Amino acid sequence: MRRIDAHTHLFAPAQIAGRDQLAAHDRTFAEMYGDTAAKMSAAPGLLSALDRAGLDAAVAAGFAFASEPAIEEQNRYLLASASEAGGRIIPLATVNLSLPGWRGSAEYALAQGARGIGELRPHNQGWDPLGTAAHDLCDLAAGLAAPLLWHVSEPVGHDYPGKRGGITPEELWRLASAHPQTVMIAAHFGGGLPFYLQMPEVRTALSMTYFDTSAASLLYDDASVVRLVDLAGPARVLFGSDYPLLSPLRQLQRITALLPGDIAQAVCGGNADTLFSDRPDT
Ligand SMILES: [Zn+2]
Repeated sequence: MRRIDAHTHLFAPAQIAGRDQLAAHDRTFAEMYGDTAAKMSAAPGLLSALDRAGLDAAVAAGFAFASEPAIEEQNRYLLASASEAGGRIIPLATVNLSLPGWRGSAEYALAQGARGIGELRPHNQGWDPLGTAAHDLCDLAAGLAAPLLWHVSEPVGHDYPGKRGGITPEELWRLASAHPQTVMIAAHFGGGLPFYLQMPEVRTALSMTYFDTSAASLLYDDASVVRLVDLAGPARVLFGSDYPLLSPLRQLQRITALLPGDIAQAVCGGNADTLFSDRPDT
């Protein structure tokens, strides 16, 4: 069974070198990466981090840029990196639903090897996660068995760069309810949404929703992953680090110390392996 980090971020080297210019034109990018202390990584850095952690592969997202050229450059880089990495990089495509060409861009990236879409930040990019385009995206994703990874903004607690601007737990529940065939991955413990899995109708509505542990140590106490597994079930929790924000090695150690061996195996790779290998030929 492969060990997989299900939530990491990559940037094209030219975009890392050009971060000042990107920050001057993209408000959300400036909020999260304008400070040069905020880490950015290209593929070699990610692969080294996986080696250090003893991980086999990573699901890699880019960043929810606003502009089409930045998105296209990033998608090209992630797809090229994945094809050179011998299966160790599972690439996601970035889309911005407020751009008129989003559908063609998403379909092209998926046809070229992207395995899902995300990390989606609808409010940062200025589109409604319950609007027509969002429903179209869910239909497209369901048709191509492409999971959608959402930045879920927890409505309470401390602020941090990039906290706001994702999807709220309530919006994700509404969207998932309308699209029972679409696989959703709710990042960062789903912003608290798993608590409501204890309501039977919510559990039914979220039967295709997974929850990842990305940024766990910045948000939640140590035992939170145990409670998440208890609420969602071990088959629907995905280990994710949010690399390069956090070290996959330390996050992995933190989680495997808390979960029984068979559950840790599922959470730290088995579930992601199933989820991302399950695409029909298109
Ligand atoms: Zn996020």
